[in-house]
Amino acid sequence: MLHRVAAVLLALTLCAPIAVHAQAQKAPVREITQIKDNVYRFRNNFHFSVFAVTPAGIIATDPINADAAKWLKAELAARFNVPVRFLVYSHDHADHISGGEVFADTATIIAHEKAKRAIIGEKRPTAVPQLTFSDRLRLDLGDLTLEMYYLGRGHSESDIAVLIPEEKVLLMGCFFLEQGPLPFFGAQPVLDPDRWLEVLGSLLDGGVEIDHVVLGQHTVWPRERLVAVRDYIALLWSEVRKLDSEGVDFETTMARLPIPAQLDFIREGGASEDDIARFHRFEVTAMWRQLKESAAAMVEQAIGEGGAAFALLGKSMPLIIVVMTATLLVGGAPSQEERRQIAESLRSQVPLWPWLVGHALMYLVALGITVFVFNAKRGLSHPWLWIAAWAGSAGAFDKNHL
Ligand SMILES: [Zn+2]
Repeated sequence: MLHRVAAVLLALTLCAPIAVHAQAQKAPVREITQIKDNVYRFRNNFHFSVFAVTPAGIIATDPINADAAKWLKAELAARFNVPVRFLVYSHDHADHISGGEVFADTATIIAHEKAKRAIIGEKRPTAVPQLTFSDRLRLDLGDLTLEMYYLGRGHSESDIAVLIPEEKVLLMGCFFLEQGPLPFFGAQPVLDPDRWLEVLGSLLDGGVEIDHVVLGQHTVWPRERLVAVRDYIALLWSEVRKLDSEGVDFETTMARLPIPAQLDFIREGGASEDDIARFHRFEVTAMWRQLKESAAAMVEQAIGEGGAAFALLGKSMPLIIVVMTATLLVGGAPSQEERRQIAESLRSQVPLWPWLVGHALMYLVALGITVFVFNAKRGLSHPWLWIAAWAGSAGAFDKNHL
């Protein structure tokens, strides 16, 4: 079942971006429309970004591509006669953030830290961000405030929401595509539904006023539509977890989760019943997969963030403390005799490495056992999962093989 689910996901995630790019090859349609007093929406074909004008300068978001950015820069100079002071990337995908260098002469470029990593690592054709953040960032610009929230992994690893509270405008980048699953999960194997719900909750339940939700593609939503989508995600995530805890299989889960009324608005954009059913299935599949492959996902996350041990610290700290303490008690700390040998080796040039290698190996074995026990506790039955986890913890695992 998981293989079939993975194949469906792969097909969906591979096809969707190609379709978008094929459309974007046609002659560009560019326009600027006013959303609120000082906030405008910039369109380049099927891609949109927003910019806000203050007396001190303009705060722009995704440049989209170099030609579009040059066009926008000339329009901004002609219309407002103030430079772009800040440029914010909504996420790291090249079809939204290419051409940032066009504004680099006057603007400080801001993005999530994972966007910066991808821009450098994947050699995205744009300027590298100078200011990054991991969780939230608030910039007080005098007339306007920019509040940026990391959304967690969904459409990409680096999506952020950008709120301009004075104008009640929220930019969601590509996190939601109206004519597609909500959210649109790109090629992400690991998702953070809890994080999405936390961020959307702080935006929707915290007394923040929002009139316009600007999507990176498709229409501008009223606040109610974001509430509907948040409620849909919350419903799916809690129901899929509940059914999983009851031991229900995937197809039964699908059958027990009919398409909810929250998705009705997608029809207005022209989606067929088949489309909506497909989006809904994609969404349930993605959430189901989080529960079934969470250990593998955890290892991949750990490797992506610089080492399995690092991420495991957060998730299985009590177990790690017990194993580390046991390792030290059994023989991790040098005995008096060993300390004497070390002192002697330092004096007499006798090599110290056998002792160091021996203890490093002991540590890795202890960590491998920790991961194994941790995975077993989560009820995972696939042997490759814990083998992968162990290999990951030993630092010998290539995440591309996951
Ligand atoms: Zn994207």
